[in-house]
Amino acid sequence: MARILGIGIATLDIINIVDEYPREDDEIRAMEQRIARGGNVTNMLVVLSQLGHQCCWGGILGAEPDAKIITNDLAKFGIDMQHVRTDQAGRVPTSYITASRSTGSRTIIHYRDLDEFRIADFAGIDLGTFDWLHFEGRNISETLVMVKQATNNYPDLKVSIEIEKHRPTVELLFGYADALFFSKPFVIGTGNHDPAAFLSDMHNRFPDTELVCSWGADGACAIDHNGVVLRCPASPPPEVVDTIGAGDTFIAAYIDARLRKLAPREALDYANHIAGQKCGHQGFDFLL
Ligand code: ADP
Repeated sequence: MARILGIGIATLDIINIVDEYPREDDEIRAMEQRIARGGNVTNMLVVLSQLGHQCCWGGILGAEPDAKIITNDLAKFGIDMQHVRTDQAGRVPTSYITASRSTGSRTIIHYRDLDEFRIADFAGIDLGTFDWLHFEGRNISETLVMVKQATNNYPDLKVSIEIEKHRPTVELLFGYADALFFSKPFVIGTGNHDPAAFLSDMHNRFPDTELVCSWGADGACAIDHNGVVLRCPASPPPEVVDTIGAGDTFIAAYIDARLRKLAPREALDYANHIAGQKCGHQGFDFLL
């Protein structure tokens, strides 16, 4: 069992399950609706906790009743919330998710006006008690300071960053992580429709960084220390039920595998397997 700290967001997810994704200006009826806690880093932590790790969340909540939905859910998984700050002015970020039964895709509209987790919040955490520290690639200028503090003061602490979106200056973070997890939309946004060329280019620039890229229903890729691209197919469930948080599950399982000293190829296989299992399962409760 390892101690893992995740810095990032929690959201309130309002999920409408529809037969088919609507066209603009359509009016359709949802087959089902549920409200759940979401957010990349907190999704990842609830999976890591089910894999047997002790997890701690560093993030922000709004001072409103919806925050209770988030804290109740995280408490169920034993997530340590002592470093969570409540912002008296802001509201809990919301993700409006339309999940299509016909394709298994999920389309997300995200709204937030909440403060970010800041350097001053981070300064209060004793990083010496953790084995792995994970960030979302957001709030770049402050995340950069936090990542540098962690890597300079705790050289044995593994640091990973999820690079999901093209945010200005996000590349500044790349040189400071032990592991980078890239999303498919991020890679496609660089003009690469195959992750191999992207990973090779990144490996030339950051040869000491572990580089991993999830690729939806086509599985995932990584690159080893010799620059050899590793490809692993997805592990489809008997029926795709819910792909929300598949990427977060993939990252959690990959981190778990690397903490258990599995080689990158084995970690990729395992992460695809657990992420595939998630796609066949609604939500995160009793996932494993
Ligand atoms: P995100 O959920 O962040 O958009 P991806 O779509 O890249 O991330 O999915 C993450 C991982 O989940 C993939 O690498 C794959 O292992 C698994 N996965 C996603 N969609 C499917 C699917 N339809 N069938 C099987 N596995 C899937």
